[in-house]
Amino acid sequence: MTQPRLYGGIEGGGTKFVCMVATDPENIVNEIRFPTTTPAETLEQAVSFFTQYAEKGLAAIGMASFGPVDLDPASSTFGYITTTPKSGWAFSDTISRLHQAFNLPVAFELDVNAAALGEYYWNIENRLRDPLVYYTIGTGIGAGIIVHSKLVHGLVHPEAGHVRIPHDWSADPYAGNCPYHGDCFEGLACGPALQARWGQPGEELPAGHPAWELEANYIAQALNNTICNLSPKRIVLGGGVMGNPGLLPLVQQKVQKLLNNYIHSPVITEHIDQYIVLPSLGNHSGVLGAIALAKLEVDG
Ligand code: ZN
Repeated sequence: MTQPRLYGGIEGGGTKFVCMVATDPENIVNEIRFPTTTPAETLEQAVSFFTQYAEKGLAAIGMASFGPVDLDPASSTFGYITTTPKSGWAFSDTISRLHQAFNLPVAFELDVNAAALGEYYWNIENRLRDPLVYYTIGTGIGAGIIVHSKLVHGLVHPEAGHVRIPHDWSADPYAGNCPYHGDCFEGLACGPALQARWGQPGEELPAGHPAWELEANYIAQALNNTICNLSPKRIVLGGGVMGNPGLLPLVQQKVQKLLNNYIHSPVITEHIDQYIVLPSLGNHSGVLGAIALAKLEVDG
């Protein structure tokens, strides 16, 4: 009997790595997580995890990395993390060690792009909602965009966390924490901005705290712009900040208000709860997206 193909997925984040072996979301064989230390040590831990499956049908590995990354296969630094401020990781090669260890196809993507792919690829309803945009709103903010079944790559990759949105300094005197732009979307609305503005982590701020009204305003402004630019059929909002249960309905209401009935579609005016949604894969969108990357690499 032939072994079923197994796929390896890595979600490489700035604070932790998640490694998984699976055939699909219903058949997860093993999963581990460990802290991100140096590139050499962290990648070695991933290699030792996947080594157990090298003779058991492991067919490909998908690597979803924190960014920014080089996604251009023609570039000499393809598969590298590029200009990150994270100590030791700037211009580090993430995929050569995997190639060297396993001699298997290795797919490479930005983490938020992989999460977008995970939500799209493994969810039949989302497949019918193309273009689809997936945002992560957590330690940083980014978005992966699927158009015509493919992730959008471009000059580099979309950086939807760094768009400019209106900032009412009298209502919110916080200057923002983006080292490049100050009060861009990420600078105003990421988890560390919440903590800096209010003096406690977002997860400790209770429902009804003014933080959430302000946060929902910023997210809704960014979504308004994305809806007008791309006309997505669905927007998925992931990341730790979205874990606050009252935030999603606030965002939905504010998007409706900002668009003001201009976009003539019942999904906006009547079914916004089906239009702006939480991830169907919970906090596994990224690593299951990496599994999808591996599967697409060998199965097409
Ligand atoms: Zn920025």
